[in-house]
Amino acid sequence: MVSENMYEKLAELVVKKGVNVQKDQPVVIQAFVHDAAFVRMLAVRAYEAGARYVSVEWRDTELSKMAYRYETPEVLSEVPQWKYDKTKYQHDGGACYISIHSEKPGAMADVDGEKLRIANMAYYTKMADLLDYTTNNEGQWCVIGLPSVEWAKVVFPALSDEEAFEKLGDAIFAVTRVTEDNDPIAEWDRHDREMIEHADKLNAYRFEKLHFTSGLGTDLTVELVKGHIWVGGGCVTPKGVYFDPNMPTEECFCMPAKTGTNGVVYASMPLNYNGKLIDGFWLRFENGRVVDFDAKKGKDALAQLLSFDEGSSYLGEVALVPYDSPISQSGILFFNTLYDENAACHLALGRPYPENIEGGVRMSKEELAAHGANDSMQHEDFMFGTADMAIDGIRADGSVVPVFRDGNYVF
Ligand code: ZN
Ligand code: ZN
Repeated sequence: MVSENMYEKLAELVVKKGVNVQKDQPVVIQAFVHDAAFVRMLAVRAYEAGARYVSVEWRDTELSKMAYRYETPEVLSEVPQWKYDKTKYQHDGGACYISIHSEKPGAMADVDGEKLRIANMAYYTKMADLLDYTTNNEGQWCVIGLPSVEWAKVVFPALSDEEAFEKLGDAIFAVTRVTEDNDPIAEWDRHDREMIEHADKLNAYRFEKLHFTSGLGTDLTVELVKGHIWVGGGCVTPKGVYFDPNMPTEECFCMPAKTGTNGVVYASMPLNYNGKLIDGFWLRFENGRVVDFDAKKGKDALAQLLSFDEGSSYLGEVALVPYDSPISQSGILFFNTLYDENAACHLALGRPYPENIEGGVRMSKEELAAHGANDSMQHEDFMFGTADMAIDGIRADGSVVPVFRDGNYVF
C-alpha cells in the first residue's frame, strides 16, 4: 500500500532527480485534475529547489472527450497563436517539464478517429518548431505515472476499485524504485550508472547492424545510423544539467538508419495509440519502410499511425531492455508505454532522438537526414521483446557478436 510518505518521496525524486530543477528555472507541470494533491507536493518541492515559477497545465479526460464529441473538425483544427506563444515563452525562459500520466488506457476508444487525427495533425503542425525543445533535451523533462482507479480497473479488471488501485499503486512505486524506507535518489544514481555501463559497452562495439529473432516470428535486421550513440540512464542538457526523462527507465536506445531495416517484426504487447488499442500485429519492412502489416485488433488505428506522415512508416528508435527488468518481472501489462516499453525491447515508428548521433542535437534537419536519420511529427513505441529474444550485433568487418540470448544481455 502506497503511503503519504511515499508520495512525498516520489515528489522529491521527480524534482531533484527527474527534472533536477535549477535555481530560477521555470517549472511546467502537465497533470490530470484528479492528481491535484500530488501536484501541490511537486510544486512546493520545486519552489524549495529554487523554481522561478510553477505553471500547471490541467487535463481532464471527460472534458477532452466532450470536445471531440461536440466540436466540429474545423474548430478542432484551429490551434490558436496564444498556445504557441505560451509554449515559446516557457522555452525562452528555459523551463523544465514534468508530465504526469494516470489516465485510463483506451479512454479515447469511442472518439471519432478522424477528429482525433485532424486535431493531432493541426497541433503538431502548429507546434512543429517547438518540439525540438524536449526531443533535443534543450531543457529537462520527466514523465511519470500515478495510479488512478480508471487505469487500475483496466489492468486488474477482476479486482474491486480499491484493490485494483492499491495493486497498481504498489506496482508503479516499486518499478519507480520508491519504497517506504529506501533512499530513492541514491537508488536512481546506482541504476543510472548500471545503464550507462551497458550503453558504453554497446558503443564500444560500433555495430553496423543488429539482427533480432524471436519465437513469435520476428526476423529483423536493423542498420544503425553513422556515428550512432547508444544512450542509457539519464540525459544532459546543453547547460550540463543531468536529468532522468523517464521514471521508470530500463532501456538502452539507439537510432536506426532510415532505409536500413529489413524483415518482419511481431509485436509482443498491445499498443495504445491515441487512446485506441492495437493488438496482435506485425510489420514487414523493406529498405526501412513498412510495406505490409496486419493486426488482430485495431488495424485501422495502425493504418492511421503508419500513414500519419511520410516518416511514420519508418523507424526512429531501437531499444534494448532485458527480460529480467523489474517491469517485465512484475508480469503486469500496464497498457501505458512508459511502463510497457521498459518491460521489453522496443522499436519506435517516426521521430528519432538526435542525441543518438554524435553531435546530433546541434545538426539541422538536413544534416540529420544526411546521417541517415528519419523524421516525423510523431514517435510511437511498440514492444517486440520476448523471453526468448536473441540479438546479434554485426560489425563492419562482418563479425557477429551475441548481444542478447533468452531475452537478456550476454555481456
Ligand atoms: Zn525507448
Ligand atoms: Zn521511444
